[in-house]
Amino acid sequence: MHLYSYRVNPDIQAIVHTHPAYTIALSLVFDELPHLFPDQSALVGDIGFVPYVLPTTKQLADAVSAKVEEHTALILVNHGLVTTGKNLREAYYRTQVVEESAKVYMIAKAAGEPKVLTAEEYKEIQSLESEAYRVQLLQQLKS
Ligand SMILES: [Zn+2]
Repeated sequence: MHLYSYRVNPDIQAIVHTHPAYTIALSLVFDELPHLFPDQSALVGDIGFVPYVLPTTKQLADAVSAKVEEHTALILVNHGLVTTGKNLREAYYRTQVVEESAKVYMIAKAAGEPKVLTAEEYKEIQSLESEAYRVQLLQQLKS
C-alpha cells in the first residue's frame, strides 16, 4: 500500500497508517467526514473513503493508491486511516487532525445535526494566506 502510493504520487514523501478509534468508529456508520473547522479544511482538505478490502493485499494497495493523488487523508472503512505528506511531520499532523475531526463529528452527531462548513467557506479557508503559510511551515520543518 505504501509503495504503490509513493509510486503513484511523487509529491508524497511520507505516509502514516494508523487505526484510530474515532476514525474507525465513524467509518462504521458514515460515508463522509464533512468540513467542520478551519484546521481540517486548510491542513487536510477533502477526506476520502476507501471501501473495506482485506488488509495486506494488492487489492488494498490498488484501492488506496488510486485515491492518493486526490486526497491527503483516506479513511479505510472498517480498518483505519492513511495520511500523506511532504514529510513525516505533515503526514502525522494530518492523522491527528482527521482523528480529532472524527471525534468532534461523532460527539456533535450524538447531540444533533452538526453545522458543517459550506463549499464556499472551505474555499475561503484554502485561499487564506495565513493558512498557506502554516502549511508551508509544516512542510519545511524537518521530520
Ligand atoms: Zn492497518
